[in-house]
Amino acid sequence: MNGEISAHQRLMRVRERIEAACSAAGRPPGSVGLLAVGKTFAAPAIRALAACGQRDFGENYLQEALAKQRELADLDLCWHFIGPIQSNKTRPIAEQFDWVHTVDRDKIADRLSAQRPAGRAPLAVCVQVNIDDEASKHGCAPADAGALARHVAALPGLTLRGLMAIPAPQVQPEAVAPAFARLAALAREIRTSLPAPQAAVFDTLSMGMSADLETAIREGATIVRVGTALFGERTRRAGDGAAA
Ligand SMILES: *Cc1c(COP(=O)(O)O)cnc(C)c1O
Repeated sequence: MNGEISAHQRLMRVRERIEAACSAAGRPPGSVGLLAVGKTFAAPAIRALAACGQRDFGENYLQEALAKQRELADLDLCWHFIGPIQSNKTRPIAEQFDWVHTVDRDKIADRLSAQRPAGRAPLAVCVQVNIDDEASKHGCAPADAGALARHVAALPGLTLRGLMAIPAPQVQPEAVAPAFARLAALAREIRTSLPAPQAAVFDTLSMGMSADLETAIREGATIVRVGTALFGERTRRAGDGAAA
């Protein structure tokens, strides 16, 4: 032991935070999934978490993700793409991932559906919403999310699972609550507009990160995306990797 906090200890702490937040919100234990965001961290760090039982991993940068997937091909992991998507990069995403959280326009959805290999389960998709209407951010406008969701729901290669957002950063984690609440309200509204079979599997709110997962869970998150609290501080700036 070298005094460093182990992957196992970090994972236990994050799981405890999630369960404490569920309990405080009166939500059942196990009702929030943990997505481990490994961007900028190498395959051995992911392998260490996988050895502790973590199965869902999120990646932002396609080339980095594909290299790690090759190194970890002996493990049975569930891979989530959570970065911006260029339309000429959809094929490897459709082929190599189980989930995509960042579908923000019809064209990307169409391509992912058409490129999903026959014989694989449909790709699970969240529509990314630019919930604070930030000029610099990815995600569709809140007013367009319903139409995009219904478009995704109708595509054969995709299963619409819910909404995702990255709210504008706030100094106090509590200040993000209204943005999370708006995403939850938007999801309820969209759910009622879907045909019954699609509404039944529209159950995901992908929101909350290391700093604000408690707030997100209180506002209804079903998947929290956690990097720093599991892997430590990133030394490379996010975005330094090859963009997707
Ligand atoms: C990096 C990233 C996260 C994790 O952020 P942390 O603050 O390190 O927990 C979550 N979601 C997305 C989309 C990210 O890019």
